[in-house]
Amino acid sequence: MELKLYDTLTKEKRAFVPLDPANVRMYVCGPTVYDFAHIGNARPVIVFDVLFRLLRHLYGQTHVTYVRNITDVDDKINDRAARDYPGLPLNEAIRKVTEQTGNQFHADVAALGCLPPTIEPRATEHIAEMRAIIERLIANGNAYVEQDHVLFSVATDPRYGNLARRSLDEMLAGARVDVAPYKRAPMDFVLWKPSKPGEPSWASPGGIKAEGRPGWHIECSAMSWNHLGERFDIHGGGIDLVFPHHENELAQSCCAFHTDRMANVWMHNGFLQVEGEKMSKSLGNFVTINELLKDWPGEVVRLNMLKTHYRSPIDWTVKGLEESAKVLDDWYATAGDIKGSVPASTVLDTLADDLNTAQTVAALHGLRHQAEKAGETGRAEFVASLRLLGFLAQTQSDWDARKQAASGVDAAQVSALIADRTAARARKDWKESDRIRDELAAMGVAIKDSKEGTTWEIAR
Ligand code: AMP
Ligand code: ZN
Repeated sequence: MELKLYDTLTKEKRAFVPLDPANVRMYVCGPTVYDFAHIGNARPVIVFDVLFRLLRHLYGQTHVTYVRNITDVDDKINDRAARDYPGLPLNEAIRKVTEQTGNQFHADVAALGCLPPTIEPRATEHIAEMRAIIERLIANGNAYVEQDHVLFSVATDPRYGNLARRSLDEMLAGARVDVAPYKRAPMDFVLWKPSKPGEPSWASPGGIKAEGRPGWHIECSAMSWNHLGERFDIHGGGIDLVFPHHENELAQSCCAFHTDRMANVWMHNGFLQVEGEKMSKSLGNFVTINELLKDWPGEVVRLNMLKTHYRSPIDWTVKGLEESAKVLDDWYATAGDIKGSVPASTVLDTLADDLNTAQTVAALHGLRHQAEKAGETGRAEFVASLRLLGFLAQTQSDWDARKQAASGVDAAQVSALIADRTAARARKDWKESDRIRDELAAMGVAIKDSKEGTTWEIAR
């Protein structure tokens, strides 16, 4: 089996060759912590968690470094802090917002079965590295100081536009670029800018006297450099980050370190829409992970995400969630409380093919059917395959109990009715037996008679 990954930069699916198999390095752009994360934000987190798990399986648990940052300096954070805590000094209010939102994000993604990344750096802890990169860019002639701003001069980087595959003219036409008096060319982007009074601020680079704060793109160049080096294996995020965010990161890092590549493979997940429409607050179809987890177990959300290949768009629907919930019921029923052995080769092969989780899910359906026939060995392989993908975090009985609780069915009442029905059948009172069956059905409970007795489950 050979791992192949699609690279957005070269537009090809290639065999993955790590720079150092003893330390495979991946950087994924993380959340800006100012509000609850939505289901679109969950997509890169789940997709790159599956890749992290696969890489750990292939290269060894301790041979993969996964960095996912937290952006804790941003205008949206400042606005939220001022709005929610008008009585507090802004910096204190900002700390509250980023702490609460960060904790919520961690709880949400843990419930989705995602492992914590190896390192989760915060932008505000890497200001020194940002300044260092900016100083290098100024010294190299790739950046200039103007009216207390530092700007990257895109004209100095002939590769600029290679990731987005657009010419400067196309980028200019497509992007909403701010025309600003401190810019020499409209596409030049901010590396550093002055802070407004009361806003977080740090000593500036480039000989600027006034304190200031970093632009967005420089954060990721600084954090990936600090934790993964000048060049690393995989850089990931959602497709909307290709331009301008990743194009700018690439330009900054390559020009600062004189390298021809920042990451060997650039990976981008497709976009998620809800019930056929772009998700937006104004349309009222904005779904947070937090809300979703009130109605659905995290594993259902996870499976629903992985049924689609990561590069394709997803239409997120309630119908899809219902189907995913049924599949997980079946998987849990077959898995029972069996210990896992090794993941099945079909599962590894489909994952190794540019993380084709849609095919992996199809393979799992096949494995389940086999497992039903093949007994313990087949089931142990099935279980190990599910665990590799981050499923089966619960025991089967916990899974069933949650389902029963969610259905509002009182298990003791069901048991009592089943006992009454068994007694009715023993005295050949078929009418009463059928009546109780109907009563249970009306409660949403399906029963099954076998030699061992009567079992029940929540009807679908
Ligand atoms: P943001 O906080 O907006 O920077 O987004 C965090 C991550 O979520 C980035 O990798 C985005 O590309 C990704 N993302 C945001 N919205 C969506 C969406 N609707 N579908 C898929 N990915 C998304
Ligand atoms: Zn980034």
